[in-house]
Amino acid sequence: MNYKELADMIFPDAKEISYYEEKYPRRNLPEGAEVLRVAPSPTGNVHIGTIDQALIAKKLAKQTGGVFFLRIEDTDQKREIEGGISQIIEALKTFDLEPDEGMTSETEEIGNYGPYKQSERKDIYQAYAKYLLEQGKAYPCFATPEELEEMRAKQEVAKVRTGYYGVWAKYRNLPLDEAAEKIKAGMPYIIRFKSPGREDRKIQHKDIIKGKVDFPENDQDIVIIKADGLPTYHFAHLVDDHLMGTTIVTRGDEWLSSVPLHLQLFQEMGFKAPRYAHTPTLLKNDNGNKRKISKRKDPEAAASYYEEIGVPSLAVKEYLLNIANSTFENWRRQNKDLSIDDFEFHLNKMSVSGALFDMVKLADVSKIVISRFTAGEVYNESLKWAEKHDNELVEMLSDKEYSLKVLGIERGNAKPRKDIAKWSDVKENIIYMYDDKFLNSKQEYPYQVISDKESINKILELYIEKYYDENDDKQTWFDKIKDLAGEMGYAREVKEFKANPDSYKAHVGDVSTVLRVALTGRTNTPDMYEIMQVLGKTSVENRLRKAMEN
Ligand code: GLU
Repeated sequence: MNYKELADMIFPDAKEISYYEEKYPRRNLPEGAEVLRVAPSPTGNVHIGTIDQALIAKKLAKQTGGVFFLRIEDTDQKREIEGGISQIIEALKTFDLEPDEGMTSETEEIGNYGPYKQSERKDIYQAYAKYLLEQGKAYPCFATPEELEEMRAKQEVAKVRTGYYGVWAKYRNLPLDEAAEKIKAGMPYIIRFKSPGREDRKIQHKDIIKGKVDFPENDQDIVIIKADGLPTYHFAHLVDDHLMGTTIVTRGDEWLSSVPLHLQLFQEMGFKAPRYAHTPTLLKNDNGNKRKISKRKDPEAAASYYEEIGVPSLAVKEYLLNIANSTFENWRRQNKDLSIDDFEFHLNKMSVSGALFDMVKLADVSKIVISRFTAGEVYNESLKWAEKHDNELVEMLSDKEYSLKVLGIERGNAKPRKDIAKWSDVKENIIYMYDDKFLNSKQEYPYQVISDKESINKILELYIEKYYDENDDKQTWFDKIKDLAGEMGYAREVKEFKANPDSYKAHVGDVSTVLRVALTGRTNTPDMYEIMQVLGKTSVENRLRKAMEN
């Protein structure tokens, strides 16, 4: 029995690898074009880290005129959930990160390098495993779970590295005839890679993100084909990224330690290895400790969470780029109006260690992103969100013309309002602008410096009777508030008040506050002149009267 015969016995139907090498020719791409992919497993609840991976991969592919594809890694069928692929596809769509190639639904796909779902590639993996068997670079291993357990226990007692390597690799040198006998006898087995590595030798890996990293060579005879005939991650990575023509493997840095093994696999197979870029894990601050964002504990781990609370996907992407490239912030400061697509991303500018993903900072970024939206965009997006999550907001927005005016307050100017971080903030931010909400409910009036009923009512009454004219321009409007302040014996100017604090009880700003609180029930609002313009005469007067009666 020779290697070839054993290989034929194990995989009688597998094709020659030349068949696949021809079927999937090297991609004909311009110089510098990179091929990248995102390769999630359909385990449900797409992680925000997957979005981060996809964003980076797609950006680089686009930037270089290359290809971005989606591969579904479903070889661990125990972890798979129903609808898992659709969830991934939906999430990528939500974030506008659709791939050029890959799965487009649970069963359909686009592109010439498929199938893009690993469970459909069984024949391909087996062909490549057979090739390794033929070369004597792989072998069947008959170790039972008990045997492996026993080996592990012995290794622990002996205080040596655990794993299947060197003298511990019991079936590595099993005579081929014996192996054939066992297979004929129906003994269960898996296929292992015969590692040529030695632990006492070092290799150096040059990671695009992590830089130079030294590792001992791999000497583990890892499993390449499992008992169910499907490959392990390592072997699928080798076969898929080779055949699909990936030029840069971007993946989470939990895979960094597998690089020695992966480089060895490519080497033994005679393939050119891709370049690797191991991206920092997204971390969160948990009471002063940084830890991984966890699907189990943190709602923000789920890519779908942002749609639920109404953070625009654009804001999430902008924030992820912020974390990903230290140069982004500066670029954004200088290019306030450009799209993130115009930002040139560099893998080698990524942080080497973990990247802190902070919900408060995300909210700040989101406020700025939303401040660049037109009133129409804010209207459409918040309505879309409200239709799924908030009926009351839908009802408020049903008066489109008025709502556009409300949302247009302090928007579209040089310093747009930055008070909306997510669509779920919109209601609270604008509810006081709606008469049916404001006038028909009991109001709190948080008056400040001027807080006695008599002065307040005097101010409001004088304002309605003598000073309010809805046709005033902003300057006249403000001058009139000053006049009102003067008439009441308050300082017309804040300066004046500061110079002689003892001569006045309050100043024009305090009078404005009374008006603001009476009109809106709040001390903090966007520009009051604009608010009054939008409310219009009847509403302004009704509101001031209501406040007087309070
Ligand atoms: N399926 C692997 C994971 O989800 C993909 C790693 C890779 O991108 O190669 O971690």
